[in-house]
Amino acid sequence: MTNYCIPSYPFWCLLLGSAVLSLGCGPKGETVAQKVVQPVNPDHFIADSLIEPIKKEMRTLSDGSKAECYVVTTKAVPSDHEIGPWAPKHVTDGKEKGGIWIKDGHVYDVSGEFVAHLDELYDDPQWNLVREDGSIKVTDTKEAFDLAARPNVDPRYHNHAVECPPDVVGWKSNHNVYVIPVNPVYRSIATDPHRVGDGHGPVGVAFNGVKYDPPAPIHMIIKAHTIAPFDHSGGHVNPHAGYHYHAATGKTKEIEQADGHAPLIGYALDGFGIYAHLDEDEKEPKGLDECSGHYDDVRGYHYHVSAAGNNQIIGAFRGIAGSASVVEPK
Ligand SMILES: [Zn+2]
Ligand SMILES: [Zn+2]
Repeated sequence: MTNYCIPSYPFWCLLLGSAVLSLGCGPKGETVAQKVVQPVNPDHFIADSLIEPIKKEMRTLSDGSKAECYVVTTKAVPSDHEIGPWAPKHVTDGKEKGGIWIKDGHVYDVSGEFVAHLDELYDDPQWNLVREDGSIKVTDTKEAFDLAARPNVDPRYHNHAVECPPDVVGWKSNHNVYVIPVNPVYRSIATDPHRVGDGHGPVGVAFNGVKYDPPAPIHMIIKAHTIAPFDHSGGHVNPHAGYHYHAATGKTKEIEQADGHAPLIGYALDGFGIYAHLDEDEKEPKGLDECSGHYDDVRGYHYHVSAAGNNQIIGAFRGIAGSASVVEPK
């Protein structure tokens, strides 16, 4: 079994947070009773994404308490959409040959043209990902990926588009195991996801079994004049954690809400629902707390994913998180 605490874990999924949030460092907080609490509905998970039927078991949560949990074991590759592409390979490639990149709340299509103009986007002439023949520098071996996807990017891989090469496929046979409390519990304090487990795990799961991860450390990535594009579904791959989302772009299974509220798109590891950013009328949610959640009498407390350009799924856990791990099949 592999958990998230492995030394070679690429940096863009682990190094954040300490300076971003200083939540959850005080006492454990008190449970606050809520008029409406929506339990996790295991039927929302896509059957094709499951490795085995969802189990209900007593499990230990991240604060050491025990609770009835769903144990959800899923495939590493989503069953409801294709993955990739990420980086275009030539300056003439259109936006369909690449994914997306985000800056200051904006979502950009990563076409060849986009890559060629990163110097303008970042107002920094040192950006130069395009060779003289028009080809784009992309990490095309696992070794290159490993040397580029770390805090001190190997100088050979500065000015590269970083993606897990398509021939690195070992991760595809791994399983994702999520332990999620059946009945989420609202607490008076929020918990920084980086203080849960080993601090590198996901914040939640989509109904296709794909992890919703904490923000990508974009400031670290661009420091080496690299980009690590997401595909149009908001996900990318590293060979250790597998495919994971940093943004929700409406490409996965959604549970529509009868009252026009934004649809349900997954669950956080504490069992509270994660809903899309915009409601039926494309309006943003109001009155969100530091966790990116709020309460209403239909859904109880729930989260809204941030806009795709904001590099954030949820801000912090309002409840007590379960756990997630990547498991190699026996
Ligand atoms: Zn990532
Ligand atoms: Zn809401």
